[in-house]
Amino acid sequence: MTYQGLIHTYGHLLDLPLHTRTVSLLEGRTPLIKADNLARHLGGGFELFIKYEGLNPTGSFKDRGMTAAVSEALGRGATTVICASTGNTAASAAAYAARAGMKSIVLIPQGKVAAGKLAGAIAYGAQVIQIDGSFDDALTMVVEITNKHPICLVNSINPYRIEGQKTAAFEICDELGSAPDWLCLPVGNAGNITAYWAGFKQYSGLQSGLKSAFLPRLLGVQAAGAAPLVVGHAVENPETVATAIRIGKPARGEQALQAAEESKGRIIAVSDEKILDMQKLLAKLEGIWVEPASATGLAGLAEEVAGNRLKVEGLRVVAVCTGHGLKDAEIITREMRKPLVVPPRLEALEEAVLGN
Ligand SMILES: *Cc1c(COP(=O)(O)O)cnc(C)c1O
Repeated sequence: MTYQGLIHTYGHLLDLPLHTRTVSLLEGRTPLIKADNLARHLGGGFELFIKYEGLNPTGSFKDRGMTAAVSEALGRGATTVICASTGNTAASAAAYAARAGMKSIVLIPQGKVAAGKLAGAIAYGAQVIQIDGSFDDALTMVVEITNKHPICLVNSINPYRIEGQKTAAFEICDELGSAPDWLCLPVGNAGNITAYWAGFKQYSGLQSGLKSAFLPRLLGVQAAGAAPLVVGHAVENPETVATAIRIGKPARGEQALQAAEESKGRIIAVSDEKILDMQKLLAKLEGIWVEPASATGLAGLAEEVAGNRLKVEGLRVVAVCTGHGLKDAEIITREMRKPLVVPPRLEALEEAVLGN
C-alpha cells in the first residue's frame, strides 16, 4: 500500500480535533539505521541505531508536528500561521502552509539562522522577519501577537505539534518491536523530548503485560552554552554552534525535566567542540551527515559511556538525529581545505591519487 503520511498512518492515536483537514508531504517513516561502526568506536558490546530525521520532507523532524498543527489550523479556517524559529520550524511551517494555501510568517533571530534553513523558508514563500534579539524574544513576540490577532501559532507550544511528534516514538517501537533501552536526543525548546515521552507512554499503555518494554530511559542533551535545564535557570545569552538548540528559556522545560526523571534518565550538557567532533565522526564512520544540533544527543551518549556513567553493554540505544547536514553546510565549508586542483591530464590525476 502506498504511504500516505503520518496523520493517515497514526491519526487514530493522535488527539486531533474532528475538524482537522490533513495537509501532508508524506513526512515520517524515516529510516532507523544500525550504526555498528560508531558503536564499535564507542567501545562496542551494544546496538546503536540512528533515527535519521533529517530525511523528512523539509530536512528535519519538525515536519512531524507541522503536518498536525497546519492540518488543524486549516480545518479550523485559519488563513495565516506564524512561528518563532531557529530555522527548521520556519522552513517546515512555510512548506506546510504553502501546501495548505495559507500564508506563513516566520520570526528568526538576526544573523543566527543557518543559510540552508533561511533559504527554505524563503523558497516556500514565507514572510521572513528578523528580530534584533534571541529566539526567546521572538517566541515571546509571536505568543503576544497571536493572543491579539487571528493568526495561528505553530511553535511547539501548540499542542498539535506535540501530537504529531509522538509518531517518531511509535515508528521506533513498531520497527524494533519494543522501545530501546535508551533514547538520546538534543534538547532545545524541549518539545521533542516531551513528545517522545508522551508517545512511548501512550504506546506502552496499548500493550498488555510487557509495559516497561515500551519505555526507554531518556538522555536529553543540551549544548553547554545553552543549557538552562542543566544549570537550573534561564540562560540570558545562549551561545552555541548548534543553532537549532540555541535557546535559553525552553517553553517545555518543566515537562522535559519531568520526562527525564520519570524515565529514570537525565538531561546533560556537552561542549560545542564535542558536538562538532561527533558530527564529523558520524559522517565519516557511518555516512550520515547531520547538522550540529543533531549530533548533540550522540555526543552526550559518547561522553556518558566514556565516563562510565552510562553502561550500554548488551543494550539497545537509539540516537535521534533531528536534522540534515545540508541545512548548515557552511559549518563544514568554512573550515575545509580547498580541494587539490590538477590539470586535466591522466598523469596528474595518477600522481594525486597514487602519489607517484
Ligand atoms: C528544533 C530542533 C531541535 C530541538 O528540538 P526541541 O523540540 O526544540 O527541543 C534539535 N535539533 C534540530 C535539528 C531542530 O530543528
